[in-house]
Amino acid sequence: MFSYPSGDKLHLGHWYNYVPADTYARFQRMRGKNVFQPVGFDSFGLPAENYAIKCGVHPGEHTAKNIEVIREQLKTLTPMYDWRSELATHTPEYYRWTQWLFLTLYEQGLAYRSDMPVNWCPSCQTVLANEQVVDGACERDGSTVERRNLTQWCFRITDYADRLIDNLEDLDWPEETKKKQTNWWAAATARSRVAVGPAGAGDCLRAPETLEDGSVALRVFTTRPDTLFGVTYMALAPEHPLVDVLVDEERRDAVAKYRRDAARLSEVDRQSTDRPKTGVPTGISAVNPVNGETIPVLVADYVLASYGTGAVMAVPAHDERDFAFAGAWTCPCAR
Ligand SMILES: [Zn+2]
Repeated sequence: MFSYPSGDKLHLGHWYNYVPADTYARFQRMRGKNVFQPVGFDSFGLPAENYAIKCGVHPGEHTAKNIEVIREQLKTLTPMYDWRSELATHTPEYYRWTQWLFLTLYEQGLAYRSDMPVNWCPSCQTVLANEQVVDGACERDGSTVERRNLTQWCFRITDYADRLIDNLEDLDWPEETKKKQTNWWAAATARSRVAVGPAGAGDCLRAPETLEDGSVALRVFTTRPDTLFGVTYMALAPEHPLVDVLVDEERRDAVAKYRRDAARLSEVDRQSTDRPKTGVPTGISAVNPVNGETIPVLVADYVLASYGTGAVMAVPAHDERDFAFAGAWTCPCAR
């Protein structure tokens, strides 16, 4: 793990990380082994850019300067690094290989562009990882984080799902972790098989499809088609584009407010089981294709746009989250 030269000094956390590895390297060398310990700087990216914006300096210049300072600081701590084998990820000698790797994936059809919901910090003007969102706020500057749909590059890792599931078998991992991985992959593959077209994730953001009778098709992903007769309502993710198209005029303001509130929550918070389930009726009704029954359509933030098609047919009798939602909240437009 290389240091981020985003600040202008080494901090204790850096060294806290490096001591165990350095100690182990020394131990192995003392046992007569030929130990190679390279060193480097993770210098191309978000923290460096944010530091540059904050200080009003060019990221290239201050990154090089920070590396010089941190290198000298590291040397005074006398780690066993081979300084002839130093790299910095912001240099063309390094990132030409990242570019080569990306182009190789692209040429093989494994990199594609798609609209996906992301965590957006309006003051950093950047996308944040789930881990960088703390209680709905940016961990760096405390700004309220929004969910936004942005066009971005995705990798078609689902092409490898079957192999990844099969290869889990030989891994010495806890059974619980293996099970989670398998479930995740099973959902991801089913999703790309159910979806029309090649994209898979983010499919809910495709243009709506109008049926012969003038109604609109809602694409749904489920791992339990056997439970579809028990559907009592449908829930859409707040980011689902059909919400705008279909919402009843009378419900428009309430739905817009609910979406704004949901935009401030991270996906992790939205999925948290100790949060009460919330939702808002859209005034739209849907027809369940398996039995022709009319059911209400709600917007609920426990439905994620990044999972499946961003729409669920809710079956409280067979699904814990649907059950919690149905119990905690009664829809005024329900039968
Ligand atoms: Zn921020």
